[in-house]
Amino acid sequence: MADLGIPRNTIEILQKYNFNFQKKYGQNFLIDTNVLDKILSAAEITGEDCVLEIGPGIGTMTQRLAERAGEVVAVEIDRNLIPILEETLSPYDNVTVINEDILKVDIGRIAEEKNGGRPIKIVANLPYYITTPIIMGLFENHVPLESITVMVQKEVAERMQVGPGTKDYGALSLAVQYYAKPEIVANVPPNCFIPRPTVGSAVIRLTCYGKKPVQVTDERKMFALIRASFNQRRKTLVNSIGNAPGLGISKEKAAAALERMQLPPTVRGEALTLAQFAALSDLV
Ligand code: SAM
Repeated sequence: MADLGIPRNTIEILQKYNFNFQKKYGQNFLIDTNVLDKILSAAEITGEDCVLEIGPGIGTMTQRLAERAGEVVAVEIDRNLIPILEETLSPYDNVTVINEDILKVDIGRIAEEKNGGRPIKIVANLPYYITTPIIMGLFENHVPLESITVMVQKEVAERMQVGPGTKDYGALSLAVQYYAKPEIVANVPPNCFIPRPTVGSAVIRLTCYGKKPVQVTDERKMFALIRASFNQRRKTLVNSIGNAPGLGISKEKAAAALERMQLPPTVRGEALTLAQFAALSDLV
């Protein structure tokens, strides 16, 4: 089977099926063998692994995954890609293609059926318009996960990786870092895709924690606090969480908690570490 990472092979198959790119599905297909190899080696795929690929496109990465993994499940929303995938993946008997919206698929069930409930690996060149709901859905639904190795918009990768005191630090950074250790493994320019995206891209690997890095009594409360703090990031923490709708925390209570944590009353959410948000959540 021709290597679809080579641009002329991708173009040939797209022409054969008269395929029209759908902007609404964030379709930017990879046409760079070096980048594909980098993703695969960052994901450390072995014959023992069950891999879920989100948005296989014409199957460029799926072919490589099928050659290394024990089992591959690929979820693709665009039904026009299904006949193409039938052709490009025909040599492999360890791949299942599901024509569905990834946000509607029960991924926990896939892990159960295909991997006996053991942790699976996620590998994808993600559709950028739904990066955050996909990643947060995986974490919040407690899908058994070993790692997530994905191509995302460069700025989003940076937001996932940064710590306190930087302009990109926010609710996404804290949520990702509660569940996993993030590492940007490659920056990828637009000319590695067809069609070219208008933004820069990066590959990030999230290695999921068995034991969480901080202990907190009520996870949901901590994330509600985090969201409220960054909703109005120019405000002090006391003002943004004190009296925020739905939280039920008065300004006085927020100020008292900060004092117990030996933080100044003027501190902003962007200065707090994950461990400090966990402590604050347990105090208020
Ligand atoms: N993996 C291919 C590659 O690297 O060449 C394609 C990547 S492209 C950036 C994103 C893919 O995700 C497209 O094939 C698109 O149709 C698919 N997609 C978009 N939204 C989706 C959704 N909600 N559920 C599943 N697949 C989706």
